[in-house]
Amino acid sequence: MSLASRFSCLHGHDPDSLTVEQARAFIHSQLRPRLAGECVALRGALGRVLARDLIAPCNVPAADNSAMDGYALRHADLDDVGTTSLRVVGTALAGRPCAGAVAAGECVRIMTGAVPPAGCDTVVMQEVARVDGERVLIPGGQRKGQNIRLAGEDLALGRPALAAGQLIRPAELGLVASLGFAEISVFRRLRVAFFSTGDELCPIGAPLAEGEVYDSNRYTLFGMLRRLGCDLLDLGVVGDDPQRLAETFRQAAAAADVVISSGGVSVGEADFVKPLMADLGEVLFWKIAMKPGRPLAFGRIGGAAGNADGGAWVFGLPGNPVAVMVTFYQFVREALYRLMGADPLPLVPLLPAVCEHGLKKAPGRSEYQRGILSHAAGGWRVRPAAAQGSGILRSMTEANCFIVLGHERGPVAAGDVVEVQPFDGLI
Ligand code: AMP
Ligand code: MG
Repeated sequence: MSLASRFSCLHGHDPDSLTVEQARAFIHSQLRPRLAGECVALRGALGRVLARDLIAPCNVPAADNSAMDGYALRHADLDDVGTTSLRVVGTALAGRPCAGAVAAGECVRIMTGAVPPAGCDTVVMQEVARVDGERVLIPGGQRKGQNIRLAGEDLALGRPALAAGQLIRPAELGLVASLGFAEISVFRRLRVAFFSTGDELCPIGAPLAEGEVYDSNRYTLFGMLRRLGCDLLDLGVVGDDPQRLAETFRQAAAAADVVISSGGVSVGEADFVKPLMADLGEVLFWKIAMKPGRPLAFGRIGGAAGNADGGAWVFGLPGNPVAVMVTFYQFVREALYRLMGADPLPLVPLLPAVCEHGLKKAPGRSEYQRGILSHAAGGWRVRPAAAQGSGILRSMTEANCFIVLGHERGPVAAGDVVEVQPFDGLI
């Protein structure tokens, strides 16, 4: 079935008026991860996605061990209420166990991480014990098994420690290391080709001619894609020339899993790109009820129709520099994670914050204003960055969050609560 019929079947939506949620849901419903796995040295797995469940080949911790500095003893020796005097017969250090067993009426000094000698089932922290020559006085009221970390309580032998699809972050690196693995199997990197379109674009480092602007979108895209750990293919700037555009899309789709372009999908321009794309594959042109970022193209080119093998997914982003970033974060980021084989990652938490200024907003579209979030007087507060034009990239560098005003929302009064998406961890 064609992409267009899947789109209208599933939703019956009007491509000229789609909510952000409808567009996002459709995009995600079409994407299936299908990358091959490869084995990499552990550090190289940072930011990658686990390709196979990781089964614990051992218990972590491997043996029972003390959670405290103190005394390891036999709980049965203790008086329930009164003080018990025990003879200290040795010391157990982390990595240096105490040889021999502990007999009735005896205990050993033990350090955090050390394995308790045979017979000891309880550790009493040193702060509550009183040393009395070669003996130690233990007060009543100790619980059997206290202060002992049990073998396998972190990760149990034979159980999945991490599931395929897990994004490897610093905590996962540590966890994999705790199991002793020097290599793990991750999906190969997603290859993303990207380029800018527009006759007015001038490459950086060259003098600007009249009417030209520097091509900044390729640099924001580079940064956003690099942060996601994609393999990048930068195809430069393509002028508003149908033949060159078609060639570039074809070349990009042959070399990459995903192609991202910026510019050329706005009204008028899209009309000129549409017939050309029809020859290459199947791309839907949408007008999304959002600001910034109204035009968006999504589809597949290069492979046989309806066949996800060969060819590439395409995202045609708007040209305005802020719109590129907004549409990337609202649609592309999650889509790429999905193609990378990662479990669905929530966009970013939406944090409630008190808006310090009133904001104009009409129901009927989603808005992503750039905001400056701060924590003051016991709560999160946000104010909009000065200039909100979709071409004003400075608003993104000044801001530290998007103020997300949902589809149905009307105007915001100063003091109202709004939801924000912090940039930290996102951009
Ligand atoms: P378009 O979507 O092609 O109509 O472009 C919309 C606006 O974004 C125009 O003002 C373009 O000059 C600008 N623009 C498009 N591509 C880029 C780019 N790569 N870098 C900076 N500005 C761009
Ligand atoms: Mg253009």
